[in-house]
Amino acid sequence: MHACSSAHHHSPRLNRRDLLRGLTAGSALACGCVTLSSCATNPATGEQTLALSSINDDVRTGAKQYPELIAAFGGAYDTGRLQSYVTAVGRKVAAYTELPDLPYEFTVLNSPIINAMALPGGKIAVTRGLLALASTEAELAGVLAHEVGHVNARHGAQSQGRATIAQLGLAVLGIATGSKELVNLGSSLAQSFLQKYSRDQEFEADSLGVRYLSRAGYDPAAMASFLGSMHEQSQVEAQMQGLPPGQVDEYNIMSSHPRTVERVQQAAQQAGAITVANPVVNREGYLGSINGMVFADDPSQGFVRGQTFIHTGLSITFTVPDGFTLRNSTENVTAQDKYGSAIVFDMAPVQRSRTLIEYLQNEWVTDIRLSGLENLQVNGMAAATGTARVQSSNRVADLRVIAFNAGSGRVYRFLFVTDPRVTDAQSRALRETTYSLRRIDAAEAAKIKPLRIIVAQARDGDTVDALSRTLPYGQFNDEWFRLLNDLKPGEEVAAGRTIKIVTS
Ligand SMILES: [Zn+2]
Repeated sequence: MHACSSAHHHSPRLNRRDLLRGLTAGSALACGCVTLSSCATNPATGEQTLALSSINDDVRTGAKQYPELIAAFGGAYDTGRLQSYVTAVGRKVAAYTELPDLPYEFTVLNSPIINAMALPGGKIAVTRGLLALASTEAELAGVLAHEVGHVNARHGAQSQGRATIAQLGLAVLGIATGSKELVNLGSSLAQSFLQKYSRDQEFEADSLGVRYLSRAGYDPAAMASFLGSMHEQSQVEAQMQGLPPGQVDEYNIMSSHPRTVERVQQAAQQAGAITVANPVVNREGYLGSINGMVFADDPSQGFVRGQTFIHTGLSITFTVPDGFTLRNSTENVTAQDKYGSAIVFDMAPVQRSRTLIEYLQNEWVTDIRLSGLENLQVNGMAAATGTARVQSSNRVADLRVIAFNAGSGRVYRFLFVTDPRVTDAQSRALRETTYSLRRIDAAEAAKIKPLRIIVAQARDGDTVDALSRTLPYGQFNDEWFRLLNDLKPGEEVAAGRTIKIVTS
């Protein structure tokens, strides 16, 4: 009540059109206020905290940030059939929200990470990585309904201004060096879009999501079932990254949307007696829609094969030592090993330096004194390198930086970070990484095809072991195949079942 009356006084610019556009449907469904009063009630949650004119602010904010978000996650994947399908499913769900007239948009991102994001005002994005993991239209609808739930409850708007500094799993760099430059190097625009919601916000988005999902005629159980898949995937991902079980990387949906299956089931119960007559699941239709979709990294954005990174867009490749796990993101390539050593590769513009050594010391690593500065030639590219030992209160680290002339006023850069106890032992292997950087020609690049999801019928005698060999995850191929096809440990594929296989 109090919030309601104060909102009245503090919203002098609230006008009739704002109310009509923003809340017509909401006031009918859930808003306790009389339509056209300036009392502020959140239509989705019923909480009286919302300044109504701010819904238009949400729309403006979301529209402004949407292109940045899309670019930060590899751009739009597809503007054709798959994009239309996802938009249709999203609109179907959004039509049953308290704010059905927001300018909702749904974009499939060309990113292998598994996540979905919502900007204020109804701009939603979902990665092709997430689409690969989902198996039914109801699961996709559940993800979109949850994101639309965040929009309707205005969670994004509430937590705006709480800036997150991205560390790309390499917070150690900033801590070790105390250098702003190096912290920036490990930071990421993409990360800034991955909002960390509170547990209460997640619970609310799940409750709303289940509500919308069932109103749209989908099987509300899909929400909990897909959350189970995402949870299992994050476990496998943690193993692959050498992280403790349960700890997930910062780009994973389980990190930005912390939830448990139990909470989603609880949300489903709270949403009331949800009995949907003939609920839509649509497994075959969904699998048909993702058939042929690119899987894992897109070679034109750089991709990882074992210890080698290849970027057909930039026409370069390099190899990291055994024991390092390579990861490609939109902004850089990182590799880490169990000794805490890290390799960061990226590309940057040269602003003002005339030589590479000048670039290293005056433009890149500005607040650490580098020693051993020298020029190199690496596979026809001019390069320069230098080292430093850096110390913070709780860690000492050795750094080696190398910049290569990439042409067109840009440099490729390697940063190696090692614990002084392993620096000598690893120096030869890391030197080989430096000298492995080379250009690839068009013929070599043309041979590199992306992996794709192919939907097929399992045949008699097909085994998980045989079908999973084409996946790019080595010893984790089996686990990944099971994730993609909702198979339990030890379960084999049944002949005749429609399955996802991965092939180039
Ligand atoms: Zn969420």
